[in-house]
Amino acid sequence: MHAPSLPDRSIEAYATVTDSGRLERLKSLAETLADVRVLHVSSTATGGGVAELLHSLVPVCNDLAIDTDWFVMDATDDFFEVTKAIHNGLQGSGSRLTEEMKATYRTVTEENAAELEDEYDVVVIHDPQPLGMIDLLEETMPNAAIVWRCHVDLTEPSDEYLAFVSEYTKRVDHAVFSRSVYTERIDVPTASAVYPSIDPVTEKNRSLDEETIAAERDRLDPLSFDAPLVSQVSRFDPWKDQFGTLEAFRRAREEIPTLQLALVGGMAGDDPEGLELYERVARETADDPDVHVLTDLPDTTVNVLQRQADVVVQKSLREGFGLVVSEALWKRTPVVGSNVGGIPLQVEDGRNGYLVEPDDVASAADRVVTLLEDEDRRATFGANGREHVREHFLLPRQLVDLLELSVEVLNLEQ
Ligand code: UDP
Repeated sequence: MHAPSLPDRSIEAYATVTDSGRLERLKSLAETLADVRVLHVSSTATGGGVAELLHSLVPVCNDLAIDTDWFVMDATDDFFEVTKAIHNGLQGSGSRLTEEMKATYRTVTEENAAELEDEYDVVVIHDPQPLGMIDLLEETMPNAAIVWRCHVDLTEPSDEYLAFVSEYTKRVDHAVFSRSVYTERIDVPTASAVYPSIDPVTEKNRSLDEETIAAERDRLDPLSFDAPLVSQVSRFDPWKDQFGTLEAFRRAREEIPTLQLALVGGMAGDDPEGLELYERVARETADDPDVHVLTDLPDTTVNVLQRQADVVVQKSLREGFGLVVSEALWKRTPVVGSNVGGIPLQVEDGRNGYLVEPDDVASAADRVVTLLEDEDRRATFGANGREHVREHFLLPRQLVDLLELSVEVLNLEQ
């Protein structure tokens, strides 16, 4: 296990984006939790929404004087092959789960659990990858409240994987899901839903001055910001359906010939499928000068692409929540998103974007064209999106929910 390096964060930085009542509530919850030690465990410090969330939540908790650590598992490629299969199985597809895969999972999770030296009052296990640590944690930290934070889309999990993961989830003290419908899909003793959030003060989400935007625009040449631009920002992962986005773009371009597409993606440290998919997408688009496949961009550049795109698309087939949707809406960019997982929590159809069925490429293309042809509608949707995110999906709101939950699982007096 290793502790990733974290940025400095001050709770006061959020005073401009949230009301003072919420900040006061956070400080009061932090007082209640003053003697509590919290540990977050996840399987990667880079790429993907969990890493994005923890890079902000953990330092803010420490700034509030809640003693909070984050450890990331150390593991080999075969472990991540197994855990990606588990992730895919929980999202409804994939190969058989063999005894050998289960053994790899148990060995690596146990080895990681054995490296934890300190005791904690609350241990938050993110996603299925570290869940197997429970076997040892039950012995080494018998008094800790174990919380499973599931970020996966549990719309239609495969039975085989559900049964395997349930062997662990039924032993946690509490489970937290990104949507209330998921709370009934898997065997857990008690559950609640907490919507994730974006951090408005990060380099990815903060406002940018004209000079920074201009410099980034130059860096992105030959992509042009003088012609219409659609972008999707997602890990290269079959669930994000980059090929579906490409197909929707090609159909939309029949109506708007100058249209460009930016497919922005990265490879998460715990996802072995990423590189292969990236190579397939890059090959498929190599001869198309209007499609820009961009990887491993700095956060400022992602910020500019989400901000300066005319429309952001998120054509996922499954999506636990989809932070990228709130990231785009916060920057006043309307989103055409699939009606799956956490996307409909964020995209209000006809108000800040459009929802389409995940396999409906033709409707995705139509909605993109509708928005591209109507600048006033884009501006109205953009303003609505900003307000929707301000109200529901910024960090202080999620933190209040999580701290209230910690107070509850520890049975503390408020
Ligand atoms: N991301 C990024 N660069 C990329 C691709 C993704 O910084 O090339 C970030 C993105 O901005 C977001 C996170 O990775 O903050 C993805 O989170 P999301 O919840 O959308 O999806 P996940 O990857 O967790 O399935």
